[in-house]
Amino acid sequence: MSAFDDLFAANAEFAKEFGSSDLTGRAARGLGVVTCMDSRIDPLGLLGLKPGDAKILRNAGARVTDDVLRTLVVGVYVLGVERVLVMPHTDCGMTKVTDADIHDLTAERGVDTRSLDFHTVPDQWAALRHDLTRIRTSPFLPTGMPVTGAIYDVRSGRLSPVDY
Ligand SMILES: [Zn+2]
Repeated sequence: MSAFDDLFAANAEFAKEFGSSDLTGRAARGLGVVTCMDSRIDPLGLLGLKPGDAKILRNAGARVTDDVLRTLVVGVYVLGVERVLVMPHTDCGMTKVTDADIHDLTAERGVDTRSLDFHTVPDQWAALRHDLTRIRTSPFLPTGMPVTGAIYDVRSGRLSPVDY
């Protein structure tokens, strides 16, 4: 019995119904979504999307990091992304801690994380403005590509557009 048996068993059932797929790896709806790893977020469901429609980029806090920019470059030039939605959410754990808090927590377990930047979020609006600007002004992404932000409410399921 491994820690993953439940998943492989579930997949065996999933694959029975799956048939075969003709989808390609291109984003059929031309969309890239940057959102948080929060387990309450169902990006496809809340946006009316289905597999194949969009590139979903997730990390702690929905931050536009160097790796997110790298992935957006691939998404845009290789995989059909033509617009980007940055979607943080209410009650985000990354708004409740500082980088120093995380360093302290890991230090209690004997791990030194001070060389990592966790991109914690003291001000969600400021962070979103920063992250949208980072995409819009990236020299690697097309000028004028539609980029917008919206905050997802994990209690109501509603998305509030925020356009800076
Ligand atoms: Zn979050």
